[in-house]
Amino acid sequence: MIRALYTAASGMNAQQMNLDTIANNLANSSTTGFRQLSLEFQDMVYQNLVTPGAAPGAPPSDAIVLFDGRDLSQWAQQGRGADKGKLVAPKWVVRDGTFEVAPHSGDMFTRQSFGDSQIHVEWSEPSDVTGSDQMRGNSGVYLMSRYEVQVLDSFGNVTYADGQAGALYGQWPPLVNPIRRPGEWNTYDIVVEAPRFDGDKLVKPIYVTLFFNGVLAHIHRDLMGNTEHRALGKYTPHGDMPLLLQDHDMKVRYRNIWIRKLAGYDQPER
Ligand code: MG
Repeated sequence: MIRALYTAASGMNAQQMNLDTIANNLANSSTTGFRQLSLEFQDMVYQNLVTPGAAPGAPPSDAIVLFDGRDLSQWAQQGRGADKGKLVAPKWVVRDGTFEVAPHSGDMFTRQSFGDSQIHVEWSEPSDVTGSDQMRGNSGVYLMSRYEVQVLDSFGNVTYADGQAGALYGQWPPLVNPIRRPGEWNTYDIVVEAPRFDGDKLVKPIYVTLFFNGVLAHIHRDLMGNTEHRALGKYTPHGDMPLLLQDHDMKVRYRNIWIRKLAGYDQPER
């Protein structure tokens, strides 16, 4: 219906356009007719039914569950020694419905790759507090394997602003620091709008939105490139990539990780 109305009002061939494009045109239009048309979205019938999780934080029906407390079958690590060049089963330790970084074993990443996505991750810092600054409970959630949302014990622990928990590491501090005490569970709910490339050229950067324990910490924040330690990152063209968790040699725990692949308003579920 929206296409037909748009065609009538604009004289344009809306059949050729997807709803995202039409919506953008409507939103950017200054004419009353187009604004009126935007109301018609209220009449649309959505087919993409999703059953929400039974409790807050539980995976909805269309999520890919990456860790449900039982095993790390969705994950891998880079092999070492005789296994160099191969993917191997993770050495990270599953215990009591959680898993823990195995220090010095290397990063762990999903066997599947992802682009535009909604990600839920829960993490907990060691209650036996040791170290300070970046050496207190450091890990990280690497979006698309290269853009780090920092994981750190930032409860009463001072470090540089864009290195604290919830930072888009080395580029953007979180708007706020709502971290819980060591030993308690934190949640990250992340929206990833993947970067777009045309050959070697960056067309659109990655955008990240982060709710940290339900509190908005980043809103549609663009990155300048991959996240680096004290260096300016850059974009290297890539497609979908695994979600990666950082081994920074500290025993951070994780649980309840799931991801949803995102599609546009009138695109089928992926
Ligand atoms: Mg880190």
